[in-house]
Amino acid sequence: MNFIKKKGFYVPVSIIIYFVLLFNLPKIIGALTIASTVALGAYLFKKNERFKKKGIISKVLTIIALLVVFLFCGIGGLIYDPVSVERHELATEKLKQEEQLKEVEELKEKQELALKEEADRKKIEEEKLKAEEEVKKIAEEEEKIKAEEDKKKQEEKSKIQAEEHKRQAVEQAKVEAEKRKATATSKQVAEQSSTYVWLSETGEKYHNISNCGKMNPNRASKVTLEKAKSGGYGPCSKCGPPR
Ligand SMILES: [Zn+2]
Repeated sequence: MNFIKKKGFYVPVSIIIYFVLLFNLPKIIGALTIASTVALGAYLFKKNERFKKKGIISKVLTIIALLVVFLFCGIGGLIYDPVSVERHELATEKLKQEEQLKEVEELKEKQELALKEEADRKKIEEEKLKAEEEVKKIAEEEEKIKAEEDKKKQEEKSKIQAEEHKRQAVEQAKVEAEKRKATATSKQVAEQSSTYVWLSETGEKYHNISNCGKMNPNRASKVTLEKAKSGGYGPCSKCGPPR
């Protein structure tokens, strides 16, 4: 147990214990340190004869050492406030966390913005597609209407054409009928003008033969059917002349 009494052991151990106490009871240890340094200074300069005999440099160094301990450990211990230090550390930590949170939020915002832009782009594309479809639909409908109108027009046209054809056919039929009638009439006239019948001297009929009934053939006259008819003669019912 001899090593406990050695300077190399108890001086550093005392210093460590002193600083542990100083950090745990800063106010009390600070006040004790102030009192001790002042007392030690007074003792060294007033009472200690050995110290009084030392050189000026040693005295100045001792004063500086006492001042340093007085200021840093004494005054420092009195001022040191673990709560405020803790508060400061907490505030620093909080600030750091807030900064991190802010960064995260900024990242999130960026991502949201990107998502929104993507959505907007998609929406615009969809609207474009919709508009194109509508245009297509309208064009198709217009085409349909046009086709229907064309069909209607075509039908009307064919109807008019059919009516025209009908009218023309009727006209032609009429013309042909008239032509036929004219032909027949002219044929009849020609026939009548080339067909001969017999007229008696007194009768009002025309005959196929010159000696029909009591007719005197020597007095009968041969005339065309046309002339007989225009002269007011009618056909005989006995010999059957042409009519
Ligand atoms: Zn007759």
